[in-house]
Amino acid sequence: MAQKISVVTGGAGFLGSHLTDRLLGEGHRVIAIDNLVTGNPANVAHLGGNENYRFIKHNVSNYILVEDAVDYVFHFASPASPIDYLELPIPTLKVGALGTHNTLGLAKAKKATFVLASTSECYGDPLVHPQTEDYWGNVNPIGPRGVYDEAKRFAEAMTMAYHRYHGIDTKIVRIFNTYGPRMRLRDGRVVPAFIGQALSGTPLTIFGDGSQTRSFCYVSDLIDGIFRLAMSDFHEPVNIGNPREMTIKQFAEEITRITGTKSKVEHKPLPVDDPKVRQPDITRARKVLGWEPKIEFEEGITKTIEYFKGCLERGELGERIQ
Ligand code: UDP
Repeated sequence: MAQKISVVTGGAGFLGSHLTDRLLGEGHRVIAIDNLVTGNPANVAHLGGNENYRFIKHNVSNYILVEDAVDYVFHFASPASPIDYLELPIPTLKVGALGTHNTLGLAKAKKATFVLASTSECYGDPLVHPQTEDYWGNVNPIGPRGVYDEAKRFAEAMTMAYHRYHGIDTKIVRIFNTYGPRMRLRDGRVVPAFIGQALSGTPLTIFGDGSQTRSFCYVSDLIDGIFRLAMSDFHEPVNIGNPREMTIKQFAEEITRITGTKSKVEHKPLPVDDPKVRQPDITRARKVLGWEPKIEFEEGITKTIEYFKGCLERGELGERIQ
């Protein structure tokens, strides 16, 4: 069987780089594209010299030129942490809209399968709990998070249009909060924020009263779900995430316990439109993909803490490059 060729946009990002490792492990050749706005070359440094791997520095909101045959296009490029997309509102809208159009165009030209990295943010501040894929969401289009939420909702609409109108083989994964090695220490998300604060002895910054909930999935579980979806013949959106839900206050307590830090807690204002609850209903993923998460919170978070310890020791603070 001929070797499969995958394009991964956002290939130097947290998820894009883990996905690349998985695809290489499955015997694919991978062409990674990233403009390194929020991605990090260190995430793919270990792939230097791998003959099945090529890196192209490019902004996929502009026309994408790939001369090789392509079997799969994974569109994972986007700022994805609330701080990043609040600071990069226009690039976020463009990569969700123009970037999705360009990557769908690439998939169409190459007769490739297309996989869209969508998000639980499509559900906004949800009025249905846990969130099922048939829930249409509660998004504020003109709020500060709208730049990410609406870009991804548009990306889903565009993906379904290419599927229905052009007959492209498309998949949509709605990714819930994910954590693990290669997140940027200073990307502002709660996992790196609390771990970084705990390890450096500064206060853990709880936004609001900490009663809002999230459900955290370890990265290897998430990537496995995405790979299964890519290989499936299912075209509707699929939630991938870990249903184990906790409040942000409980999460701070867990980080304090596991790291043994002396850091105190400090309350800061809750960001505008911060969802009050979030938990994936993964019935569909279980049924269609035979998938469910395997890594326990304690195990995943311990590995993540070790990773961030290494970053701090090396002075890699995870600032955004641009
Ligand atoms: N959060 C917090 N302190 C921080 C960073 C985030 O309390 O230093 C909260 C944030 O308000 C949200 C939750 O943690 O309720 C998860 O935030 P994150 O930025 O990780 O991603 P989100 O799930 O909101 O996209």
